[in-house]
Amino acid sequence: MAAEILNGVEVAEHIKQGVAARVKELAERGIKPGLAVVLVGDNPASKVYVGSKVKTCEALGLYSEKYELPPDTTTERLLSVIQDLNQRDEIDGILVQAPLPSQIDSKLIFDSVDPAKDVDGFHTTNVGRLVRNEDALVPCTPAGIIELLDYYKIPISGANAVVIGRSDIVGKPMAMLMLHRNATVTICHSKTRDLPGVARQADILIAAIGRTAMVTGDFVREGAVVVDVGMNNATTTEEVERIFPEAERVKRLEVLSKRGSTLVGDVEPRTVIDKAGWLTPVPGGVGPLTIAMLMKNTLRAAEKRREEKRV
Ligand code: NDP
Repeated sequence: MAAEILNGVEVAEHIKQGVAARVKELAERGIKPGLAVVLVGDNPASKVYVGSKVKTCEALGLYSEKYELPPDTTTERLLSVIQDLNQRDEIDGILVQAPLPSQIDSKLIFDSVDPAKDVDGFHTTNVGRLVRNEDALVPCTPAGIIELLDYYKIPISGANAVVIGRSDIVGKPMAMLMLHRNATVTICHSKTRDLPGVARQADILIAAIGRTAMVTGDFVREGAVVVDVGMNNATTTEEVERIFPEAERVKRLEVLSKRGSTLVGDVEPRTVIDKAGWLTPVPGGVGPLTIAMLMKNTLRAAEKRREEKRV
């Protein structure tokens, strides 16, 4: 039987409706949560992400500001932009779009954001709080995956969770969140021996690798929940035919001929769809959750900062 689809668009809408309703309540008290998005350089994908973050703010009634800095921006210049945003009361969340150009000290930059405004959850303080299971702003993509699993009432407690990927942005915080929900967690990476064998132990398998359709049916236990974080491009007809089940091929080949590529995850749907119990599609799975969670984190930062001010 084909896997049930975990619809990230539907869950993202649900999250955004909740945010919009709360933003409306705050507006009655004269409060408007504000997000500043900082983009350095002219990476086309980053421009698209930043554009949709600002648009989503507008749609949900949040205040937003966009800063576009040239590719040769120095660490010092970027620090001064962030320090200014840290001081401004109407800004509750600061997002510095990754990746940053190589001349910039990314760790220093992420640690220069006020932890109370760190809506990406990259600041050392928030990372530490997450590890200690204390109240923290948590990276949007893994936090969104937890919302997705909860929405579909997929039990996490006691489950074997295997996370492939150990980045600071996805893999590590994902593993921590699953651990705090009482899953038994295994983290895999490029040096893991017998990756398919380890992955087959998973009740919940999360692929955050950045390798086109690497996770095949051989990695998946019958009935497992498979969450595909990857965002890669297939650029040839052969790839499309190898990766996608027959039912999806025509549509994908059309996209390929129109745009020169089609979006594909780290999971190979052709061989996984009939083995998994649940599967996130790409696009329409994890991607929309990331922006929805950014909005939720901005709202949370706004509420928290005001609570703390009252004390
Ligand atoms: P990184 O490149 O930072 O990390 C990739 C991880 O995968 C590393 O830990 C690496 O291991 C591991 N890996 C690479 N090759 C293999 C392999 N052959 N076998 C096992 N493990 C391997 O990527 P990110 O975590 O930032 O992103 C992962 C994917 O998720 C990307 O496609 C990215 O575009 C996507 N993404 C999607 C988001 C969304 O909103 N949908 C948001 C963020 C990311 P090692 O540490 O040993 O090198």
